[in-house]
Amino acid sequence: MGSMKQKRRKQALKQWTEFQGQHDLSDDDAQLARQTGFTLKRLQTLLLTGGSDEALSVPQRIREIHRAWQENVVARKAAMDAGLIEPKKKFPNKDPKHDPQWAKAKQVCRLNMDDIRKAKELGLSPRALIKNVPGPSQQWKAPVKVWIQELYEKRVHSRGASSDQENAESNDSQKVGESGQTSSSKHKADHDSIVRDWEQNAQRNDDENYEFLRSLKIREYGFEPDALAAELHERAFQIIDCTLCANCCKTKRPKFDESDVERISAHLNMDESELIDTYLKPNPNDPPYNTRQMPCPFLGEDNRCTIYDVRPTVCREYPHTNKKDLVFRTRGVAANSLVCPAVYWIVEQMKHQAGQ
Ligand code: SF4
Ligand code: SF4
Repeated sequence: MGSMKQKRRKQALKQWTEFQGQHDLSDDDAQLARQTGFTLKRLQTLLLTGGSDEALSVPQRIREIHRAWQENVVARKAAMDAGLIEPKKKFPNKDPKHDPQWAKAKQVCRLNMDDIRKAKELGLSPRALIKNVPGPSQQWKAPVKVWIQELYEKRVHSRGASSDQENAESNDSQKVGESGQTSSSKHKADHDSIVRDWEQNAQRNDDENYEFLRSLKIREYGFEPDALAAELHERAFQIIDCTLCANCCKTKRPKFDESDVERISAHLNMDESELIDTYLKPNPNDPPYNTRQMPCPFLGEDNRCTIYDVRPTVCREYPHTNKKDLVFRTRGVAANSLVCPAVYWIVEQMKHQAGQ
């Protein structure tokens, strides 16, 4: 048993050393990375997705991640001291029968176990449920049980619609952007109004949105940010037609890593060096490469990605709003809301849900 532990420790140490070497981190920066307590996998994801400023080098991003982590620790402590949030339990007991908060919500809101299950899937907290119990003068307001049911049905319905659409479009692989839904005329009005709203207001609301995103670290709004953002991401890309936008492909220089180069050059039947010489340039701040040109040289005239099936990972994952740890990527999300109408819409919807 002891030797197994030792083996695992040695392996972890080796991985950390490789990570430090790969990113050319000083011992101090490596120490900062380890201090956060994040796993290497999580750090890699944050490095890949968290760059609000493309000019930042990896060590600078590590410092940024550490700073955000530290801010979060301090803010959570202050919020706990002020009684705004509960301390995190190390081994939370998910069973409402044994979790006093869920037990209270179950009793106060007159819920059964199925309602509790649905509320959890929706990312609702016990406090949010209790807060939504209709008061004596709120006859118009549905009981919490009904409210959960309605929200849950909407989500199931929207998932169904999404997979129907995916099935219908599975042969149409020429899409752009992270999700890249193709046109659907029934959503066109929604698409247009979202884009218009983004054009008119994204810049103006930039500071406010950044402040709101930062507040997600410390304030309880009655929803779990990652769960809500992922749900809104799914809805946004049912409405927004990336082929009418392609703004990310026009205004950002996507990162190409070694595996992207290998995959894309094979797809284009080119040598890797030829692909690099023709389209890419080294990026010392975020190695290894990004595109020489902007708009992206692989963007077709019809706004579709000409290498869609093999596009770089960073393009596949853009705009990252369905990934974990949104509260650690607030700068990146705020910056992306200026580039991507979907991100702006998601942030606005989150503000709305938070009562702002
Ligand atoms: S900016 Fe957003 S909405 Fe526009 S193409 Fe890119 S992912 Fe799609
Ligand atoms: S490779 Fe270029 S065109 Fe294709 S999705 Fe990425 S940025 Fe857009």
